[in-house]
Formats: sequence, C-alpha cells, structure tokens
Amino acid sequence: MARDFPTSGWPPMIGRSLSVSEWNDYIAQYDFGPVAPSRLVLHHTFIPNLSQWRGLASMRGMQDYYRQLGWSAAPHIYVAPDGIWLFTPMSQVGIHAGSGNSGVTNGVWWYSIGLEMVGHYDAVRPSGKVWEYARVVMSSISKRLKIAPRQLISFHRDYPDAFKSCPGWAVTHDWVWGEVEAFVNNSTPAPQPPGEIGTPPPAIELLNERLMMESFSQRGTGYFPEWSSHQYALGNQMGMPTGNGGTIEDNDTTYGYQPFARDTLFWEVPKWGEVQRLYDLLGGSIPPSGLGRALLDASFRASGSTFHPEWYAHQYAFSAKLGPAVAEPSSFRLDGTQYGYQVFAQDTLYWQVPQWADIRQLSHLASASKQGDIALREALLRATYQDMGTTYHPNGPFISWPVPGISVRPFPMRTASALKAQPTRSRCMPSIRCITWYHVGVMSAA
Ligand SMILES: [Zn+2]
Repeated sequence: MARDFPTSGWPPMIGRSLSVSEWNDYIAQYDFGPVAPSRLVLHHTFIPNLSQWRGLASMRGMQDYYRQLGWSAAPHIYVAPDGIWLFTPMSQVGIHAGSGNSGVTNGVWWYSIGLEMVGHYDAVRPSGKVWEYARVVMSSISKRLKIAPRQLISFHRDYPDAFKSCPGWAVTHDWVWGEVEAFVNNSTPAPQPPGEIGTPPPAIELLNERLMMESFSQRGTGYFPEWSSHQYALGNQMGMPTGNGGTIEDNDTTYGYQPFARDTLFWEVPKWGEVQRLYDLLGGSIPPSGLGRALLDASFRASGSTFHPEWYAHQYAFSAKLGPAVAEPSSFRLDGTQYGYQVFAQDTLYWQVPQWADIRQLSHLASASKQGDIALREALLRATYQDMGTTYHPNGPFISWPVPGISVRPFPMRTASALKAQPTRSRCMPSIRCITWYHVGVMSAA
C-alpha cells in the first residue's frame, strides 16, 4: 500500500488536487490503516461558492478558518470545478458532520469520509465537473470499501445535530444513490424529469425528512436513512420505532435490534444488511429462553414496559401481533366496573377486573353504537392518550373515528407538535394541512 501525500499547516492539509485518473490510482492503493471508514457524508461548501472558488487559495482560506475554529482536522475531500482536492488524509477521522464524524453503533466504532461539493445547492443541483468528480469519488470509495451506495452515503443533514440543509435541499437521497449506483454499475442513471428539481422536489424532500426525523425521534434516537434496518422498516411498513435499539448476546453472537410498531427487527452483528423479523423467528409461540425470548423481553423493555408471558393480555397481544406494550398496565373505574388496560404499539387491550382471561381490543369498539360501549371506548381513549403523555380531544382534527385510511393504532405515540421549518423553504408550513399530514404520516406508518 502506498503512503499518503504529506500534509502541511494546521489542521494538517494535503492541499493537492487530482485528476480523475490520478484519483482512481490514489484510491485503488490507499492505505486506510487498521480500521477503514464505513460511511461517507456528503456536504456542500455554501461558501465559497462556485464563482468564489480559487483552487489552492480557497483550500488555504478554509484551513485558516478551521484553525480559528480550533479544529484539529477538516473534511477529507473537496470536489471543485478544477479537480478533486485533498484536505485531511482519509486514514484519519475528519471534522465535518458533528455526530456524523465518527461514533459507536451497536458496539462497533466507525468513522466517515467527509466529501464537500464546492457550491450552494439549496435551489439547483450540482452539475458539470463538480458533480462528475463527486460521482467518481463516491462510486470509487463504494467499490474500494465494498459498501453499497445506499449504505455508504449519508448527508450532513441526516445527523440530528446538523440543523442545516447541507448538502442542499436540491440534493436528494434517491437522486444521489441512483446516480452513484448507475456509476458503480456502468449503467445510465434514470433521466431527471425536466422542470422541477428532483423527485420528490426539494420542498417535499425537506418536509419528508423532517417528518421522518421527528417521527423516528419520538421514541428513538432518530432516523438514519442509510441504516439497513431503517430502510427495511420503511420498505416493509413496520411503522415507527417504539423504542431505541440495542444489542444482545446469544451463543457468543451479538445481535442488534430495534422494536417497531409492527415487529421487532434484528440482525447479526456485523451483517447489518440481513435484517430479520422477530415474529418470523418465533413462529407463533413464546419460547422460555433463547434468542427469541431475549428479543421479546428487550423489545418490551425498550418500549417502556415489562414482558410477562404468563399474563393473558400479553399472550393475546403476542398472538394478535400487536407489537410490544408501550406503557405499563393500569386501570380505571367506569359506572361501578373496574377495567384494566394496557397500551400496545397497535392497539389498547382491556379487561374487566377480575376477568383477566377475557381480553378485548379497543379498536373493536370503533363503530360502537350502544351508549355503554361508547362511554367505555371514550374512557379507554382518554386513558390511552394519557399514557402516551398527551390529551384526548374527541373533536380534535386527528381523531375522527375511525381515522380514514388507518386501520390500526388510532392514537399517537407522543404528544402532537408542529414542525419548525424555515418558512422560505417550506411553502406549506405551518398550515394545518401539513400538520395534519404530519400526524397522518406518523399514524398511518404504524
Ligand atoms: Zn455539511
């Protein structure tokens, strides 16, 4: 393996630009050291923009700026109209994306390559040499590290501490992944429709990403579009996470998992791409021990409850595949009768005390017509909302019962909130329509 180019100054900068063929030689023999990077974070520089770019003088200007910020490293690569510029050596952890620089996921340390596209891409997509070089860099790193573009490439704004549009709202995940996949496979990318930028257009991409981030953050640490488990959850309509994931050990093997409303997803570390479903593993019976049981226990724990296999309500929820309980059980009195209930990811179960074995589902009261049933339904809804930390308003905009187009879990996992968004970039907020969309999005995905 070849040694890297020398650096100079602080933070250490290679400060050299490569042509495509020089870059291809460089990446082919690059020595990443003991641990190779496993992600690439895409950025735009915003400033300097394309007309301000002066090659090495701009690189030195950024080095000065980073030194003033007290940074000991910088992004690794800048793609500019005049070439592929090298800053921080790729064998070292860079500073460019906050929590996206490096971290520990499921017990494994990782770091990312920071790739800056010179320019400002909130309104227009990168094109010409900048985009040509960006595709060369992303596809060659994907091939060299043997990590598919969808798993490798994330955006700066994917990380919750970013608070910016970087690499620009006009740059969308499907566009980048599609273009880089085509480059990796030597095929022609799908042509972009003329007129509006991208599918979905930037304003919708912004809203979608904010909704995903908000929804996944209600009961988890957030949405990571490059994670196989999150891609699987979306593609298979698993609903929102009911809690954070973690790892468990079984037979000297480490498994990662995260509970979702419809099922718990798990995978053997480090086979992140081979996502499995807990209900498939269990095949309809609750095992006394082993991996399946450990995952079942962990899913309840992560969702705010304790799994009791001997409880009728838990046996009922398991066979009806209602997901984990998202709160501990409780009770209330209505017209002289004591009711016990527990909120599960997809429905609330209830019973009359002490008829523990006669378990009923709240959603079966959806079209109740008898007065007593309606009163019970409303009391259960109030209790369910309260357990979720919010308040039930029978005439609220999200509570037309049954909710049109939504067959399960007609209650939120958390209190309602409006999204904060930059008004210039999100034409539809904060109108009721988009807030409605937010809630419907959260609920229908469950
Ligand atoms: Zn950035």
